[in-house]
Amino acid sequence: MMYSEKVLDHFSNPRNVGEIENADGVGEIGNAKCGDIMKMYLKIDNGIITDAKFKTFGCGAAVATSSMATELIKGKSIDDALKLTNQAVVEALDGLPAVKIHCSVLAEQAVRSALSDYYTKQGIDPLPIVGEIKMPEE
Ligand SMILES: [Zn+2]
Repeated sequence: MMYSEKVLDHFSNPRNVGEIENADGVGEIGNAKCGDIMKMYLKIDNGIITDAKFKTFGCGAAVATSSMATELIKGKSIDDALKLTNQAVVEALDGLPAVKIHCSVLAEQAVRSALSDYYTKQGIDPLPIVGEIKMPEE
């Protein structure tokens, strides 16, 4: 199995690891295949994601995709974060082995899950905005 330089970099030196106290949105998602569990914390100000942190218990690709996902949404609007696809995460990492693509889906869904929590905390039904959170299973 071959990993790109970027995957190895984000795995050995992950960005934005940790928790945000009083986060505006917290999402947690897991998958049965690798046993990965990803927790995503967002700080949101006026519709802008001002901070994003994560805690991932899982395989190297899950750590790298969480790290890249937080980098891609930081400073972006909620709308942009909702458009973040797992393919965008994979491309930003210069690719992932096919058997690890589900880890990128996990990162995409962790972001959506945190945004869903954000809307719930605002008293807004997240379903029409965020859609259903899918647990990747292969
Ligand atoms: Zn994995």
